[in-house]
Amino acid sequence: MAGLLQDRMLARAAILVLALLITSVDCLAQKKPRSPKSSSSSSTKSELDKLRKQYIEATKEYKASLERLLLLYQKSVAKANDRLTKSKQLFTEGLISKNQVTESEEAVASAQLKVTQVQQQMTTADTQIAQALLEVEGEKQIARLGALRKGSLIRTTSFIRYNGVGAWSLSQAGKIETFFQQIFKRPLPIAVFGQGAIHNQWRLDHHNAMDVSLNPDGPEGQALINYLQSSGIPFSAFRAAIPGVATGPHIHIGMPSHRY
Ligand SMILES: [Zn+2]
Repeated sequence: MAGLLQDRMLARAAILVLALLITSVDCLAQKKPRSPKSSSSSSTKSELDKLRKQYIEATKEYKASLERLLLLYQKSVAKANDRLTKSKQLFTEGLISKNQVTESEEAVASAQLKVTQVQQQMTTADTQIAQALLEVEGEKQIARLGALRKGSLIRTTSFIRYNGVGAWSLSQAGKIETFFQQIFKRPLPIAVFGQGAIHNQWRLDHHNAMDVSLNPDGPEGQALINYLQSSGIPFSAFRAAIPGVATGPHIHIGMPSHRY
């Protein structure tokens, strides 16, 4: 069931963002500036309407899958609570050790943590979907350009990609957060840290990356990009947004997420 859902979502995802990014592929292929208004406005409008519908559908399916996951995890919490009640009773009767009660308590806590995590994923489902979709299509474009050298920077109309110079690890996230907090007096808006549910579902390796919800063309996004580049940290900055939805532009810090 999950496999079928994944396939359907992926198919939709591919169609959805392909058209979004096609303009920038054309620009690269021709290597000369081109008028963005090359297609008629009425066909562009219906294309955007279609994209928006597909995005909404993909988000709806993703949220439904998270709801099913939530139900499963809530049942696990209930079971773990039952076991804890029983083990407490057995402990007062002197039949089990204190350690066994502690184990039952830990089982409840870890089951509850899973519930909390899914609930968090549900509140940011729209953002996650838009960002993951843009990354999948962005990587296809990069692949067409061939291998990139260390330290190289690529700019297209829809994204900026910097390859970094040193070794990157997500454990370096703290220094980026500190940099941002000091300059802008607010926490770095991290949407996804490491592997999220959407990446599991779409078989994307996002373990060593994080997504920051900043528009690369805004002042904060610009400052972050400059900092990352001067620190030799790899990133991909996505400018495109899903039409009609105020989410999508973001900065992915780390090497690009690839299929596994
Ligand atoms: Zn990312």
